[in-house]
Amino acid sequence: MALLQIAEPGQSAAPHQHKLAVGIDLGTTNSLVATVRSGSSETLSDYDGQVLFPSVVHFGEAGEIQVGRSALEKAVEDPLNTVASVKRMMGKAYDEVVANSRLEIVAGDATQGRDKVPYIRTRDGDKSALEVSAEILKYLYQIGLQSLGDEIDGAVITVPAYFDDAQRQATKDAATLAGIKVLRLLNEPTAAAVAYGLDHQASGIHAIYDLGGGTFDISILSLNKGVFEVLATGGDSALGGDDFDHAIAQWIKTQASFENLNHQQNRYLLSQAKKLKESLTDADTVAIQLDQYDLSWRGELNRQQFAQLVDPFIERTLKACKRAMRDADVGVEEIEQVVMVGGSTRSLRVRQRVAELFHREPLVSIDPDRVVALGAAIQADALVGNKADNEMLLLDVLPLSLGIETMGGLVEKIIARNTAIPVSKAQEFTTYKDGQTSMSIHVLQGEREMVADCRSLAKFVLKGIPPAVAGAAKIRVVFQVDADGLLTVSAEELSSGSSTQVEVKPSYGLSETDIRLMLQESFTSAAADAESRALKESQVDAERLLLALEGALQEDEALLNPQEIQALRSEMNNLRQLIQAGDRQAIDNGVESLNQASEAFAAIRMNTSIEKALTGKRIDSMEDSIE
Ligand code: ADP
Ligand code: MG
Repeated sequence: MALLQIAEPGQSAAPHQHKLAVGIDLGTTNSLVATVRSGSSETLSDYDGQVLFPSVVHFGEAGEIQVGRSALEKAVEDPLNTVASVKRMMGKAYDEVVANSRLEIVAGDATQGRDKVPYIRTRDGDKSALEVSAEILKYLYQIGLQSLGDEIDGAVITVPAYFDDAQRQATKDAATLAGIKVLRLLNEPTAAAVAYGLDHQASGIHAIYDLGGGTFDISILSLNKGVFEVLATGGDSALGGDDFDHAIAQWIKTQASFENLNHQQNRYLLSQAKKLKESLTDADTVAIQLDQYDLSWRGELNRQQFAQLVDPFIERTLKACKRAMRDADVGVEEIEQVVMVGGSTRSLRVRQRVAELFHREPLVSIDPDRVVALGAAIQADALVGNKADNEMLLLDVLPLSLGIETMGGLVEKIIARNTAIPVSKAQEFTTYKDGQTSMSIHVLQGEREMVADCRSLAKFVLKGIPPAVAGAAKIRVVFQVDADGLLTVSAEELSSGSSTQVEVKPSYGLSETDIRLMLQESFTSAAADAESRALKESQVDAERLLLALEGALQEDEALLNPQEIQALRSEMNNLRQLIQAGDRQAIDNGVESLNQASEAFAAIRMNTSIEKALTGKRIDSMEDSIE
């Protein structure tokens, strides 16, 4: 097994000392907590023996906070104080969530030009998604403590593979708020692959099909030398088992000629539909018996009818699978295993259609509700140091490239997408103008070449650069991404040592669709981007030359005679026009010819400045021009 080992500082256990760690699957609909005991991973249950806890939080009259089933029960009578599906709000801006929430959403203060943060108005005050998630995490952690009866050394929390920096950061902050030590955030599909032990193979490409209650995710993972790389993700954030329930409920309405149902009747019908759907997983035919809320009807539903009702939804998931394979540039025959995740993959019809698409039986032996939590527990166990020496700790990769803005609105990529994390990369930059003493660092995420097409993560200013000629200062920018995919950027001017650093913490995130769009755009516009980048670079080069010459003329025009000045100026004007016209080749030629035209001038200046310096008149400018 050629897998990577990482010793995390302070996290390797003393010999024979078993540490306790949990894996937490923080789901949109349901959440779970799991651990590794006596070498095998298991989900932990509450006093009722339940392992699946609704990701729902209720804020009560007397300030009491309920989580899980008891909170879910409040959804009907007290909808405005019962928060469900908060995961969809994590790391998002106010504008992104306000439209499609049935809760009362208010905008928090916008800080530093960032988008407004959404808060949920409850009787207990305004709550951010992060705070609500923290309540769920606290609850899960408590269940872990109850079953393990001891200190827990840390937790691995899973997040969707498409979660961006903001969404990951929000999840991690929620855990910190809940008092949980986060060992690592782990991609959900990676956790599922780990639960099936796929990481024990040397290499391979796998598809993770995750159909939950309200979301569908497909991830194509490639395992290579201990690193899981996300080749592509896809899916639909509004597609899942709930759609099956609605389809069945609608079918019953038609069969039973129910009309004008009230809210309560609709809810009843929906809950019955859900039960029917789940029963059909074990039976060919199920009887329908409605006898509440003034609804009365008897009938039955068989698997064939069910298949007809849900096939359109399954079809949509299969289309997304094909698209993801295309994005990943892998064919069906290259996929080694298909891992089933999420409650809705219990439906036999789903399994059957997925098997048809991939030409192989998907892996279903592990409970699809638990598989992510179980994988997270295995990873957590390894991270606290319970694994034997020769076992691995797998790594993840960065979903989108990270870079900074350079002159001309271009993005210089510092860490490329799909680089294994943790990773740290440095690059040197320099000043653009003579005497420049500060530099603005603009951190961007995305695959495109132009700033305008990427997503802005942070902006900060490095001050205290000693004034010098353009290009003399050396500014070292370091991008560091930790194992959770979170970024810290620092910049240092090497000669003076003045430095500044930011932890990139955007207050909102990209949606899954945005990420997919950004990736898609970067593929389709790669050629156009390369050309416009090349043009921009030429323009920037040309402008830099003009600026330098202009400065030189202002200082040392006296060294030239009027004809020489005239010739140089006309050459410069010519280049200015070429920059405007935007023909890259012409600009490059113009730069070349201006360079030649100014060679003599540069030589005279150099000699003069050395003379001046040697006579002791202008020591400071000699230092400037030496670098
Ligand atoms: P999420 O990932 O969104 O939190 P889950 O993975 O917990 O959701 O899946 C919940 C969905 O799984 C619900 O739509 C539920 O009805 C469905 N489900 C649970 N058990 C079964 C079953 N036996 N057959 C079919 N669907 C099921
Ligand atoms: Mg799930």
